[in-house]
Amino acid sequence: MWRIFRPDAVAVLKDERARKSLARYFAVMGGKLPARFLVCKRVRVRVDLSASDEELWRAHERGLEEFRKLLSRIDAGKAKLEDLKKPETSLLDLKVELAKRILKSCHFCERRCGVDRTAGEVGFCGVGERSRIASEFMHHGEESVLVPSYTIFFNGCTFQCQFCQNWDISQYPDSGVEVSPQTLAKLIEGAKRDGARNVNFVGGNPDPNLHTILEALNECEASLSSVWNSNMFYSLEAAKLLFCTQDIYLSDFKWYDNNCALRYSKVPKYLEVVSRNHRLAFADAELIIRHLVMPGHISCCTKPILKWIVDNLGPMVRVNIMNQYRPRYKAEKYEEINRRITREEYESALRIASEVELRNLEP
Ligand code: SF4
Repeated sequence: MWRIFRPDAVAVLKDERARKSLARYFAVMGGKLPARFLVCKRVRVRVDLSASDEELWRAHERGLEEFRKLLSRIDAGKAKLEDLKKPETSLLDLKVELAKRILKSCHFCERRCGVDRTAGEVGFCGVGERSRIASEFMHHGEESVLVPSYTIFFNGCTFQCQFCQNWDISQYPDSGVEVSPQTLAKLIEGAKRDGARNVNFVGGNPDPNLHTILEALNECEASLSSVWNSNMFYSLEAAKLLFCTQDIYLSDFKWYDNNCALRYSKVPKYLEVVSRNHRLAFADAELIIRHLVMPGHISCCTKPILKWIVDNLGPMVRVNIMNQYRPRYKAEKYEEINRRITREEYESALRIASEVELRNLEP
């Protein structure tokens, strides 16, 4: 049925630029290569999981190197996942342990609240120890290459975007239903059977739920590409835990001027963190960047972001320039963004993309 509603999701299979920039994702979708988190589960780490944080992080560094070697062998056809035994302690086991430790003094994002979420404390995002989801379903409104996308909406967010479309999810971390990693794993396996192209972790924001998601992937046996659909404000430690587990980072790059980010998303040092995480994500896996064009923010944000992408990640990164901004939530308090974007603004964003020579735009 989705093929009728989203013919572009079929056409994209022949889109050479999409195929080139997301080559491994296409191979996983076609059953030719395994999802990266499954490879992560085959990488052996030699460490006692009760060791000190420092020792665990050192073992993690070594595990990342082993992962990269194994992945190149698998991708080159020199090793097969099914021939590899599960080790006593895997890189993914180690990541789950490190994530649980971070939860005790939470720094999953660069707000670094330092609260002990295992003791009932909550930080800026309001997310507790146990994750809650607002919904999960086969999403047909995502980028063409992702549809149908099995999407899980986690409650809570590390931002407070004053115009948030999903404010009832992002700003109400206590709503929704509690979900265990085991339940999530079963849901993901069911989605694979139902024809999903990927599992898409979003919210709110997935970052405060990293511990739950890593544990769910560790329980999951389905080879389904994992998509990290984030505001990209996660901490360096969270970035390292994400390494080797995700197939696609589906990023949001909205602001270039930190004053805009602070005023409208209530987030400090936006550009430093988000640009760093884009570089790390691009070095680790495949990337689709979303840029939501905001009313009145072409010269301060859209233009320098599109230029930054070309200068730092190259012209062939897949970019979705989005025109669907709607003033929701508290947008009416900010007269300057209390409107939709104009046709001229969107055309101007597309013109800038062409001028800076971005060559792989989502149609
Ligand atoms: S994930 Fe939540 S509690 Fe943890 S540092 Fe970020 S805002 Fe604070």
